[in-house]
Amino acid sequence: MHEVYLDYNGSSPLDPRVAEAMMPALTGRTGNASSVHRFGQRQAAAVEDARERVAALVDASPSGVVFCAGATEANNLALIGLAEGAPAERNRIVISAVEHASVRKPAQWLHEQGKAKVDVVGVAQGGYVDLDELEALLGPDVLAVSVMAANSETGVLNPVREVAQLVQAVGAVFHCDATQMVGRLPCSLSDAPIDLLSLSGHKIGGPGGVGALVGTRRSLARLRPVTHGGGHERGLRSGSLNVAGIVGLGTAAHLAKKERDSESARVEALRDRLVEGLRAELAGVHENGDPDRRLPNTASLRFEGADAEAMVFNMDPVAVSTGSACNSGSIEPSQVLLAMGFSRDEAFESVRFSLGRFTTETEIDTALQQTIKAVKYVRGMTRGDSQCD
Ligand code: PMP
Repeated sequence: MHEVYLDYNGSSPLDPRVAEAMMPALTGRTGNASSVHRFGQRQAAAVEDARERVAALVDASPSGVVFCAGATEANNLALIGLAEGAPAERNRIVISAVEHASVRKPAQWLHEQGKAKVDVVGVAQGGYVDLDELEALLGPDVLAVSVMAANSETGVLNPVREVAQLVQAVGAVFHCDATQMVGRLPCSLSDAPIDLLSLSGHKIGGPGGVGALVGTRRSLARLRPVTHGGGHERGLRSGSLNVAGIVGLGTAAHLAKKERDSESARVEALRDRLVEGLRAELAGVHENGDPDRRLPNTASLRFEGADAEAMVFNMDPVAVSTGSACNSGSIEPSQVLLAMGFSRDEAFESVRFSLGRFTTETEIDTALQQTIKAVKYVRGMTRGDSQCD
């Protein structure tokens, strides 16, 4: 049986066209993009080309793109950078309860360091941020609000435009971790409008370890650097540029802009076929999160009475994910599902299928077959408590 990769939200395969575009920067060219000699300038030109392509994907100005080492760094730069540059009267940050760890942890760190107070806005059972609760938390002391565009575990979309309006009405900065949304659905800095947006190469068919924080001139001016050195990227991020990675990110962004709509329609049909096939064959299959407002490639499903870790193990060679995290020797349920009101047991029965560019119909058939087999098998076992090795 062929391996089937249905964990695109974890990391998407590198598109061979991206790999090809990266080759000259990896093998043929040399030079530091900051150097004035012809070698350096060739690298700098490749970086500027990529900058334009990344900006075009999210309707931003190229001068608003700060390349960094992925969305984790972009999120850290946004939150910590804002807090470091904040006026004394704005000392509160609001994040949603379902943010990625790379937003939650820097916010927590800022709180512990006494650099900012942090409030958490809850989500409805459908998984999207509660706008009334958000509005009640906002005031003139709010520095920034960080709400993701689409959740990595459930694929649920947040009402980004409404969030932006509420946040900007109190003069705060709206940071949006759009890592999962970019390349799958239109995501525009000017439409929403978003002040600061994070994105990552390896979620859009590009390489890992490269991403960007994209902002308006005004919002970038409110940041202070988190890494200190040569100030290569707009004075906000230091370190010699990862030219090959940036070229890869630029090419991935270019392809995503061109192919996003047709690809998402194709992938959505495959995702729906998978979900319908599972529901036709198995009882007790539930979709987590509002199915009418989620990414076209994602299905977070709960299989009543089937332990997700055991299922994933038994689905091999089909690769899917659980939202559980292994901490200090015991498995913790998905924080995202708990925030949506699921019980621990329900969270432990949930599996995420995430599809993408290279997913085929045959793969979906294999996934159907393996999932059905695994659910039946696991439901037949007595559930014991999982332990991490
Ligand atoms: N934000 C979200 C929503 C993500 O899904 C991820 C990756 N899992 C990240 C941030 C971190 O991205 P990176 O791996 O580029 O640091």
